[in-house]
Amino acid sequence: RKMDQTPHVALLPSPAMGHLIPLVEFAKQLVHHHHISSTLIIPTTGPPPQSQISVLESLPENINHVFLPPVHLPENLTNAESQMFITVSLCIPSLRDTLKLLTSMNRLVALFVDPFGLDAFDVAEEIGVAPYIFFPSPAMALLFCLHLPKLDKMFTCEYRDLPEPLKLPGCVPVHGRDLPDPVQDRSHVAYKKLLENVSRITSSEGIIINSFLDLEEGAIKALQVEEPGKPPIYPIGPLIQTGSSDGSDRLDCLKWLDDQPSQSVLFVSFGSGGTLSHDQINELALGLEMSGQKFLWVARSPSDKSNAAFFDAHGQIDPLDFLPKGFLERTEGQGLVVSSWAPQIEVLRHSSTGGFLTHCGWNSTLESVVHGVALIAWPLYAEQKMNAVMSNEGLNVALRPKANEVGIVEREEIARVVKELMKGEEGEKVRGKMKSLQDAAGKALNKDGSSAKSLSELAFRWKNQKNILV
Ligand code: UDP
Repeated sequence: RKMDQTPHVALLPSPAMGHLIPLVEFAKQLVHHHHISSTLIIPTTGPPPQSQISVLESLPENINHVFLPPVHLPENLTNAESQMFITVSLCIPSLRDTLKLLTSMNRLVALFVDPFGLDAFDVAEEIGVAPYIFFPSPAMALLFCLHLPKLDKMFTCEYRDLPEPLKLPGCVPVHGRDLPDPVQDRSHVAYKKLLENVSRITSSEGIIINSFLDLEEGAIKALQVEEPGKPPIYPIGPLIQTGSSDGSDRLDCLKWLDDQPSQSVLFVSFGSGGTLSHDQINELALGLEMSGQKFLWVARSPSDKSNAAFFDAHGQIDPLDFLPKGFLERTEGQGLVVSSWAPQIEVLRHSSTGGFLTHCGWNSTLESVVHGVALIAWPLYAEQKMNAVMSNEGLNVALRPKANEVGIVEREEIARVVKELMKGEEGEKVRGKMKSLQDAAGKALNKDGSSAKSLSELAFRWKNQKNILV
C-alpha cells in the first residue's frame, strides 16, 4: 500500500489540561493552515476525566487521538510535577507500539512532547522520529531553563537568598523567590531532574512556544540568537481554547453576567488546580465584599497545598461550606460564587467582565490577553510567580497585591487592589496596556503576523524534508 505522503505529527501531552488544550489548538492550526494531520497520544492513569473527553471528542477531521493503556502510579508521589513525569515514563512501552504503528501508516515527521514528557525522546530516537518540544509556558521560562546550568555553577546559595533580582537577557528582573517552584529547593529531586532535562531540551529538533513576539520580544529574541547546539525556536501563540459551548446551554453564571453592567465584574479564579488555605479564603471573601465591586468567584475547598485540585478540579466537598458566615447572603446582588469550575473563555469574552483576579497560569494569561481583560496577579504554583512579575512589572497589565509576613493577603489589601483595578487610575493604565496587547495578539496570528510566519516556517521544513523513513 502506498503511504500517504502528507506530513503527520504525533503529539504527547503530559496529564494536565493546561498542556492538552494548547497542544490541541496547535494541531488545529497545523491542519487548518497547512493540511498537516496529527495524532494525539494520551497517557492515562485510569478512566480519562470528563474534561479531557469533551476536548478530544470535539476534534476536527484529521486530528486523531488514542488513549494509551492506564499505568499504575506509585502511591508516594507527592507533587503534581512528579506525577506528570512518572506517568509519561511509565507509558513508554505502549507509546513505542503506538509510534511504530503510526510510522507504518503515515509519513511521521515529528513527535511533540511538553517539558514533562522528555523521557519519550529515547523512543523517538529509537524509531527515527524527530523529537520536538511544545513549551506551554512563557518564552521567559524557557530562557530561564536554558540558563539554569550556568546559574547552577554561578551560585551556591538558594536562589531565593540572592540579594539581587536575576536579570535574564531581554527580560524583566525577577527576584529568586519568584522563580519557578522546582528551583526553590536545590537539594530536591525536582531541581536535579530539571537540570538534567536542560540537555534534553537542547537535543530537540525545535521548540514551539505558546507566546508571540510583541508579548515577549526580549525573551524571544534572546532565544532566537543562534548558538551551536541550540534548536530553532518557533513562537506561534497565542493559542487558546476554541470551540467550547455553542450558547444553546448557557450556564447560570453566564446568565448572571448578562444582567450586569458593561465591564463591571471582576472574575476570580485560580486555574484548573489552584487552592487557598481556609484563612486565605476568608480574607478573600471579606476583601471582595469590602471592595464593593461586582465579582464572579470560582471557589474551591481549602487546602494547605496550593495546587490540591490539579488532577480533580471538582473535588468532593462543597466549597461554599467554607465561606465566612453570612457572606453569601450579604453579597447577594454584588457577587456570584460558583463551585470549582466556570467556562472561563466565555466569562473572559463576556462584555460584563472588567477584570480578572488570576493565579497567572500561562493559559489564563494568554486568554486574558486575547480578550483584553486587565489582571490582578495572585500566583500560586509552578512558574506562576515569574508570570506575575512579567504581567505586573514587565508588561504593566496587572496589579499585584502584597501578602503579609505570614504569606496571607489581607482583606484591606484585597479591597484596595480590586477597587484600584476596577475604578482607579492605575486600573485605567493597565487596561489601556492590555488593550494594545490584545490588538498585537490578533495581528500575530493574522496571515502575515509573526506567529503565523513562524508556523509556516515549521510546516515548510517538514514539507520539504526528504522522507527519511521510506
Ligand atoms: N479553566 C476553565 N475553568 C476554570 C478553571 C480553568 O475553563 O474554572 C481553564 C482555563 O480557561 C485555562 C486552563 O483551564 O485554559 C487553565 O490553564 P492555566 O495554564 O491557566 O493554569 P493551570 O490550571 O494549568 O494551572
